[in-house]
Amino acid sequence: MTDNDVYELDRMVRLRHDLHRYPELGFEEVRTSAIVAAELAEAGIVVDRGLGGTGVVGTLRVGEGGRRIALRADMDALAMPELDETRPYRSTVPGKMHACGHDGHTVMLLAAARHLARSRTFSGTVHFVFQPAEEGRGGAKRMIEDGFFDRFPLDAVYGLHNMPGLDPDQIAVVAGPQLASSDSWTATFNGVGTHGAKPHLGRDAITAAAQFLSVLHTVVARRIDPLEPAVVSACALEGGNFAALNVIPDVVRVGGTARAYSALVRDQLEHEIGQLADGIAKTFGIIAEYQFIRRIPPVINHADAAARALRAAIDVVGQSRVITDFPPSTAGDDFAFFGAEVPGAYVWLGNGPATEGALHHNGRYDFCDRAILTGARYWTALVEGELPVSP
Ligand SMILES: [Zn+2]
Ligand SMILES: [Zn+2]
Repeated sequence: MTDNDVYELDRMVRLRHDLHRYPELGFEEVRTSAIVAAELAEAGIVVDRGLGGTGVVGTLRVGEGGRRIALRADMDALAMPELDETRPYRSTVPGKMHACGHDGHTVMLLAAARHLARSRTFSGTVHFVFQPAEEGRGGAKRMIEDGFFDRFPLDAVYGLHNMPGLDPDQIAVVAGPQLASSDSWTATFNGVGTHGAKPHLGRDAITAAAQFLSVLHTVVARRIDPLEPAVVSACALEGGNFAALNVIPDVVRVGGTARAYSALVRDQLEHEIGQLADGIAKTFGIIAEYQFIRRIPPVINHADAAARALRAAIDVVGQSRVITDFPPSTAGDDFAFFGAEVPGAYVWLGNGPATEGALHHNGRYDFCDRAILTGARYWTALVEGELPVSP
């Protein structure tokens, strides 16, 4: 049998182009999830729908094996126009496109699921998880809040993302931190507004906020272990009115982002930014309200799960095409919510050269169809290695 027969490659490429033509944003993946559910059901896979709204979970139980794993793909597109006018399967929906390759993620997992449903070359339970809303809308969290782990108890979870700059027959597998946590914070300085000519009659929140900004970067420089990566950025500043340049305002708000690769540093960032805001406010005799909004935890590959992922990657592409020292990214992926509950591993699959326009979230980006085979074979090898017929 050829790879084309084993993984229905021609059909899967057509399906990938079809999904690319009809991109859907987070929690709106109605058409996509219906296609996914139909493809799974047609292969004889048990289908559960509705977790996280448009989420789909396909379950395949084979043999007596007691181990249970989940493989996760994301289905959503981005709210941005597709700029490539010549692509025959370009987006037909204005202002929406698959610029992160999630159309490819969906199809690779479908190809593997359908193949495993036919071959049944494992013993245990696999859940094929098709998640909505990865792009900042909280799809993984919603699935978990809807009872994902109660309905599908797991021993391990695996994720994969395409990566430009690596060849479509290359896979990067690294233990430890892969993606940063992505959190937001705000500090609101509540002073006492007054006439700009009589500052002594009020409490100046503008000066307090300015002091806070001038020392904010001491959090990373002086409080975090220099060997631990961390990012703190102030990204918004709000106060006063340019139509009233003789009024010192009551309130000034500052807000920004915080990124870390460990739970400890993440906790430190939350605490230290708040302590600075509070301390500076006290210095000026005013009050600061501080909020730290935890959005996405870091993706940290579990040593055991990463070792299993590495074996599968070597099986598929060979030792020389596997990269084990790929640098972590300051982006985030809400796969982290699954990986925070059970041992997990998240790998990078090559998407071809990172030439102009070939980067994630670019209006000319496209998933590389040649990666479909590598991805489907990786998922299959992972299942066969994780859930061996005779352990
Ligand atoms: Zn993305
Ligand atoms: Zn993505």
